[in-house]
Amino acid sequence: MYFQHQTILEQAGRFYATGAGLELLSAYFARHALLANGLRNAKAKKDQGAAVRLLSLLSFRYSGIANLCQFANGCENECLVTSGHGAFLSTLEARLKRTVFLLRRPKEARECLRRELGKTGVKFVRLNVFSDLWFGALIREFSHLQFWDYTRNPRRYARFLGGLDFPRNYHLTYSLGVPSPQSEQLALDFLGRGGHVAVVFRDSLPETWRGYPVWNGEHSDLRFLDPQGAQVIGLLHKQAHPALLQLTKKGVL
Ligand code: SF4
Repeated sequence: MYFQHQTILEQAGRFYATGAGLELLSAYFARHALLANGLRNAKAKKDQGAAVRLLSLLSFRYSGIANLCQFANGCENECLVTSGHGAFLSTLEARLKRTVFLLRRPKEARECLRRELGKTGVKFVRLNVFSDLWFGALIREFSHLQFWDYTRNPRRYARFLGGLDFPRNYHLTYSLGVPSPQSEQLALDFLGRGGHVAVVFRDSLPETWRGYPVWNGEHSDLRFLDPQGAQVIGLLHKQAHPALLQLTKKGVL
């Protein structure tokens, strides 16, 4: 089933990236939002959803155009981009359209984002739901909004921890990804410097991870509201679409 989706998505991606496809996307995003209202997201719904805006792109290399997650460390095999609504082709195609539009018509996409972020009632924004990109100019421009992200980019997180050149309205959590001796050492280093690390657990959340208490990150996604001492953010594993696992394991993607 997913293989069908992937083939269709690749064909659609190639078409949208053509001149005619991009014209269609421009016309489409003149009438449709790039950002989802948090009320339409199960987790954000609990988090003052009406004030939340989310940008969901097509993660990793799944658009066939670029890699949106440069530091994916195997997490792409189980990426949540295909879980929940992501099992539906229509949802994946919507993410594909946003991705192609953002990458190939960046000025227009930025104008759309500016228009949507400027609306009354918007307070909290996550621009990397399924990507690991830097939107610094927008974050600085909308300094009255609170942005938050998770990243697997160790350089970005180290700079964030060091207080280097990051807007005050931005909160970042380092994401462990697939555990390995290297990724765990990096995570422990960040924790030792007072950082925050998201760790995914299979069945239930333990009391501690590597000596640090585990904060239940399932209750809310608004990480900037976590208490000061909540350094290890425990999240529960959610199953990606099984066919995605097969394809990535075979090296098809
Ligand atoms: S970094 Fe996040 S969004 Fe990107 S492939 Fe890994 S799990 Fe998916």
